[in-house]
Amino acid sequence: MAKVVFEQVSKRYENGFVAVNHLNLDIDDREFLVLVGPSGCGKTTTLRMLAGLEDISAGNILIGNTRVNDVSPKDRDIAMVFQSYALYPHMTVFENMAFSLDLKGIPKAEIRQRVQAAAQQLGIEALLDRKPRQLSGGQRQRVAVGRAIVRNPAVFLMDEPLSNLDAKLRVQARAELSKLHQSLGTTFVYVTHDQVEAMTMGTRIAVMNQGVLQQVDRPERVYEAPQNVFVAGFLGSPSMNFLNATLQEENAALVIKTAGLTLPIPESLQGRYRAAPNPAVIFGIRPESIYHPAYLPPGIEPFAVGATVGVVEPMGHERIVYFTLADGQELVARIDPRAQISSGERLDLLFDLKRFHLFERDSEQVL
Ligand code: ATP
Repeated sequence: MAKVVFEQVSKRYENGFVAVNHLNLDIDDREFLVLVGPSGCGKTTTLRMLAGLEDISAGNILIGNTRVNDVSPKDRDIAMVFQSYALYPHMTVFENMAFSLDLKGIPKAEIRQRVQAAAQQLGIEALLDRKPRQLSGGQRQRVAVGRAIVRNPAVFLMDEPLSNLDAKLRVQARAELSKLHQSLGTTFVYVTHDQVEAMTMGTRIAVMNQGVLQQVDRPERVYEAPQNVFVAGFLGSPSMNFLNATLQEENAALVIKTAGLTLPIPESLQGRYRAAPNPAVIFGIRPESIYHPAYLPPGIEPFAVGATVGVVEPMGHERIVYFTLADGQELVARIDPRAQISSGERLDLLFDLKRFHLFERDSEQVL
């Protein structure tokens, strides 16, 4: 059992700064949980508290039903892969991977067998006699992972292990780590500020901001149903468009008034938004929910908005189109690459009114 539980965990550093604030998080056995959020949000602090490298100021941490607040790092049955890899430069790859097993007094023959098996799994058998400086970035990353694997821990902790790799290697390493997670069948807790890593690798993702957990769910749920404006804006590239708006009754139906537009609310959502405590809201729509009229997929509920096209970025598989509404508000859309669209052009773009989000303006929570 390698379930991990954070119960009301807080971290206040000596200077009084609260880096993690009342964190409650249950990580299931065998889960690949990704902790994601902007720089400084408290991800690394959370991971270091779980590793035992940082004391916790309040609350409890449990690993496999054991409270580990006062258990030393080496007795926590975890292995951590650091962003810097932290390989010992004077040791060979083999020695780096064998080091922790040596410390535990494991017999030499077993160490050899475990290192060989991990090296084989990671495709680094041919590198075992090299020193870290004789390795590429990608190879070092694998050695760092190998060093964790040989320990056969109940929980793997990884702190931005791919951030030193170039873009192409990162994509490959992402897939390798996901595969590794499946084959090891062990709990992974993975920290990143990269939303693509979070979305593609996590069985669930936990989004943090300013020391506070914002939402935990499967990646597609967090993306499709963000709980607040922060989560909605953090995931997705380009980010979700936001417009200040007001809920209003018009001809016996609730509508959204924003940016000189009157957006009808689908029948199925009328009841939900009528219950809103306050008419001041934020309307959110993702760039991919805005369409060019010539490339409308089936099943959407189009609403035409007058747009003046600004910058157009051809990306190959799509075009990123910046545009302004009649009242001057700037928005961005991801448009079908076949659409003829150029800077300065005026046309109607189409919002899909089945795919918008509404947040309460004061609390920024979803309605
Ligand atoms: P990054 O992605 O940049 O690594 P992070 O989300 O991992 O960021 P943490 O390293 O956990 O963030 O830091 C959270 C906050 O705590 C930051 O504002 C940081 O400046 C602060 N912090 C970290 N270590 C200390 C410390 N020893 N004393 C005081 N404040 C600290």
